[in-house]
Amino acid sequence: MKKYIMALDQGTTSSRTIIYDKKGNIISVAQKEFTQYFPQEGWVEHDPMEIWATQIGTAHEALLEAGLTYKNIVAIGITNQRETTIVWNKNTGEPVYNAIVWQCRRTADYAVKLKPYEDMIREKTGLLADPYFSGTKLAWILDNVEGARIAAEKGELLFGTVESWLIWKMTGGKVHVSDYSNACRTMLFNINTLDWDKELCNLLEIPMCMLPEPVECSAHYGNTVYEIFGGEIPITGSAGDQQAALFGEACFNEGDVKSTYGTGNFLLLNTGEKPVTSKNGLLTTIAWGLNGKVFYALEGSVFVSGAAVQWLRDQMSFFKTAPESEEFALKVEDSGGVYVVPAFVGLGAPYWDPNARGTIFGITRGTRREHIVRATLESLAYQNEDLLSAMESDIGSKIETLKADGGAAMNNFLMQFQADISNIEVVRYSSIESTSLGAAYFAGLQTGYYDSLEDIIENKEIAKRFTPSLNPEERAKKLEGWGKAVNATMQFHL
Ligand code: ADP
Repeated sequence: MKKYIMALDQGTTSSRTIIYDKKGNIISVAQKEFTQYFPQEGWVEHDPMEIWATQIGTAHEALLEAGLTYKNIVAIGITNQRETTIVWNKNTGEPVYNAIVWQCRRTADYAVKLKPYEDMIREKTGLLADPYFSGTKLAWILDNVEGARIAAEKGELLFGTVESWLIWKMTGGKVHVSDYSNACRTMLFNINTLDWDKELCNLLEIPMCMLPEPVECSAHYGNTVYEIFGGEIPITGSAGDQQAALFGEACFNEGDVKSTYGTGNFLLLNTGEKPVTSKNGLLTTIAWGLNGKVFYALEGSVFVSGAAVQWLRDQMSFFKTAPESEEFALKVEDSGGVYVVPAFVGLGAPYWDPNARGTIFGITRGTRREHIVRATLESLAYQNEDLLSAMESDIGSKIETLKADGGAAMNNFLMQFQADISNIEVVRYSSIESTSLGAAYFAGLQTGYYDSLEDIIENKEIAKRFTPSLNPEERAKKLEGWGKAVNATMQFHL
């Protein structure tokens, strides 16, 4: 009988299930979107029961589509939207409130109150005092849902990020765990001791009895209960989406770096078995725990990258599909001195300016749509370059290769411009599905379905390599222009 690995990819807007074979080929995919709730300006919620229903629904669909049953599945691996916070009653299984999504800013004021503790928070968790992380979201639920704090103190409520919730549901309430790569995004987890931190839990008034057991990213957590698939399937892998992508891109060694070009951009640099504290506004995070070893990463994010291409498509009506942006960009020799800074929701690392807004500089009478399209695509690469140089300065050495995935990584013009502007080799694999693949690999390594990391590397096929070809003077000139554009953008606060 043919055997496969099932990856559950629980994202921010949809739940997906992907079934992989031994070579990392996709056998079957199913996807379902779910409801986004915006109860107030800046608030974002999901229904945990809908997350669960859509996730399991797609698992059934993916099996059905490929004519498979639970017997064909060796193990399940999970990857998920990170930081999103769920609290549920351990006796009834009912969530006490909607999931508070990572994007939700409702605890911005609370996070400001934590600023005096920021050094301690950074030292223990690698994070900043920001509403992005789970800690203040969990505190909000305990403070605002009637009876929640008392029930939590009595040990009746459990907290989990999405992977924790899914594992608990799949094991029929038997297993309450959170893998290191997810736990480290809560602001309650000490990335040095690999355990929940008493001082942080006291600071945020979180009863420690509600926290899941921290576990490695590849381990046998438990089995799905019989009722779900008509038989048990072991659950053996779990990692947050960005760390799973780092693993799926085979960034196994210190110095390996990947960038995911989606709505925003996420850069992660594997720093090996030691955490590196950033002096340049990057986060320190756990990449994964595997075979008794923990790997760390430096992480930087750009809020708007592919979304700027969507903006050209939908708001500016410049073209009908995102890939057409490449044809437009190639119709002109260069951006004609135009710089676009797509700070639509402020600037993230390394600038951290929430009040900045998008700008276009350098327009002349000769500026055409093509120049603006080209400058927008270039802005994706410039923003990445800012993060890469922050990373290089934190680790004190040059990064030689960048592995690219995500939708906009299909744009060859963009990839070449990235190689040129960062003076780096950019590698794109034949499959840019690295997130779910990472989850499948974590799960399959535990069961022996994938023998070793070498096995995984063998599966990776390089589709295209982009080598830098811009002369140093040109590069310096372009970077100087970008630097001026960003500085001017940060001066323009309404
Ligand atoms: P996410 O997972 O964040 O939804 P995807 O990885 O699916 O994102 O990538 C989609 C994003 O990439 C969109 O913002 C889209 O505008 C952009 N995109 C997709 N294809 C291209 C392309 N060929 N060139 C430029 N941008 C693209």
